[in-house]
Amino acid sequence: MDYVGHVIRPPSEAYSMIIQVTVGCSHNQCTFCGTYKGQNFYIKNLDQIKRDIDEASSYYRYKKAFLADGDVLILPTATILEIMNYIKKKNPHIERIGVYGNTKAILKKTPEELKQLRNVGLGIIYQGIESGNVQVLRKIKKGALPGHQLKAAEKVKNSGILLSQTVLLGLGGIDMSIPHAIDTGKHLGNMSPDYASALTVMLLPNTELYRDFQKGNFALPDKFSLLRELKLIIEHMDVHSKCMFTSNHASNYLPIKATLPDQKNDVLDLINRVIESGDENLLKPEHLRAL
Ligand code: SF4
Repeated sequence: MDYVGHVIRPPSEAYSMIIQVTVGCSHNQCTFCGTYKGQNFYIKNLDQIKRDIDEASSYYRYKKAFLADGDVLILPTATILEIMNYIKKKNPHIERIGVYGNTKAILKKTPEELKQLRNVGLGIIYQGIESGNVQVLRKIKKGALPGHQLKAAEKVKNSGILLSQTVLLGLGGIDMSIPHAIDTGKHLGNMSPDYASALTVMLLPNTELYRDFQKGNFALPDKFSLLRELKLIIEHMDVHSKCMFTSNHASNYLPIKATLPDQKNDVLDLINRVIESGDENLLKPEHLRAL
């Protein structure tokens, strides 16, 4: 496979055929993200992409495929359709194709384009939200404010494609910890994605956030404050349709999995018990955390 650089995928795509369509991320400015630093964004050659699909198809009878890297949805719809059609031709049993879609890329697609993509097999879009707080989103240079994210989320949901969103615990630092968590919970409730995941910020040496940390301009909340953020997010997340909420990413201290709104009280009870215990043994050890 012609994988270039650091190819990432959501945890739920662990068993998917991973086809690298673009290299890097067209935005590449988020202050916490070190994944594609120093990597220019480009679209891979279509012949190479097809050779990779041929090769991957020969290995295994995949049920799911994921198009990497950062924001494949930024490509012209005709190109994505051609790639998805080729995957389906080579793998008639593929049930779902997924992509990361940043807010700008989603907003650029018309409702008709999204429906065309859904009809050919695009089954899930992963949208990085990070926070619902305007000040935090500006500071981390996300390139999208809550209003844009909400519009993009509505577009995806109206198209019939599943929407999976991620937020980041700790992103507001100590100063903005509570407003970040409350606004993020309310924002997720308004958007009511099919899936929502909370990850925890990890300070990576090649990022602007790390440099802020070194200068004393950013400090991460401690482990139990991060759990309080998780609790506040869920408390304020009043979904209007079912949402599978998880915090089982390797970066988190406490893995949870709950269907909201049904299991909201149960999961809040669990988080409260851990916070009240103050027992670090109930949390994931630092050496097992990763991105
Ligand atoms: S977080 Fe996502 S949008 Fe931001 S720079 Fe990283 S890959 Fe790009």
